[in-house]
Amino acid sequence: LFIVFEGIDGAGKSTQARLLAEWFREKGYDVVLTKEPTDSELGNFVKRLILIGGIINGGRISHEAEALLFAADRAEHVKKVIEPALREGKVVISDRYFYSSLAYQWARGLDVEWLISVNSFAPRPHLVILLDLPAKESMRRVRLRGAESEFDKLLELQRKVRENYLKLAERFPEFRIVNAMAPVEDIHRDVVALVEHELLR
Ligand code: C5P
Repeated sequence: LFIVFEGIDGAGKSTQARLLAEWFREKGYDVVLTKEPTDSELGNFVKRLILIGGIINGGRISHEAEALLFAADRAEHVKKVIEPALREGKVVISDRYFYSSLAYQWARGLDVEWLISVNSFAPRPHLVILLDLPAKESMRRVRLRGAESEFDKLLELQRKVRENYLKLAERFPEFRIVNAMAPVEDIHRDVVALVEHELLR
């Protein structure tokens, strides 16, 4: 089983991914909880280059090159982590996947069809859980979390990314939308209900 969490910054992806991983483990499943951009050597190199946590890409790197760098990190992730775990019958839960590249790099002006073809090597997950919330709330949460990157402050960009995710949800049948405004426990309950209904029947 391969499950992905997507959504704008502050939507609660890492919290929900962790809670779902714990839920599967309690049921006796072997779980690999992972994320993108990855914490691998390549992932850290890409993050340093694109300055995540600082100002993301102050124009030093073209958006095309940025998209290809995220895709390179993803190729390593697929080959070294995701595919081996799936072959061993494990449940893989990823906090972000190629849909992040579609939503974010599309918002930066790249052609979504080009982005889809660049990422076509990446196997499609069984389920994508889109944690959806308004950009305003996202901005509020990101400020609470103390992330001061200029990128995250850009409300307009978050709005565009949210819209892109909703468009992707119409295009890719693996998407399910969950309201991320609810309390953490309620969202977790919705996520579990989805997983049970879609994947464990
Ligand atoms: O919080 P997280 O670790 O997911 O942060 C990754 C950051 O990188 C986010 O701020 C997200 O907006 C950005 N990102 C991006 N393009 C991607 C993946 C992530 O701009 N393909």
